[in-house]
Amino acid sequence: MSDCIFCKIAAGEIPSNKVYEDDKILVFHDLEPQAPVHILMIPKKHITSTDDVTDADAELLGYMLTKVKDVAKEAGMDNGYRVVINCGEDGFQTVKHLHMHILGKRPMKWPPG
Ligand code: IMP
Repeated sequence: MSDCIFCKIAAGEIPSNKVYEDDKILVFHDLEPQAPVHILMIPKKHITSTDDVTDADAELLGYMLTKVKDVAKEAGMDNGYRVVINCGEDGFQTVKHLHMHILGKRPMKWPPG
């Protein structure tokens, strides 16, 4: 999608502080970290939100989950971490390209705000 900021980051048109990249996904540091480590994992394919996931995306999303522990360990989150996907207005999704937040290096609280 031409006006999607995360598509532009995935395409290298906007710089990012990259943690990991392969042909399917990109992982980079969040611009406004909400924890000592706050990284975002995005599929390079534009998927707007979890509301827009189809059966065809099952393998890609499963692949993303298999990569979470690798990037978390690489970023030093040895004592656990939180994975968050916001969806839609009530979910406070601000960027309309599906992404996982991976936050760590501090104790998290529950319930989330
Ligand atoms: P959301 O609110 O779940 O959609 O999360 C979007 C996240 O993207 C927020 O945590 C923003 O700080 C982050 N963000 C927005 N633009 C950029 C950017 O250009 N680089 C890195 N992170 C960004």
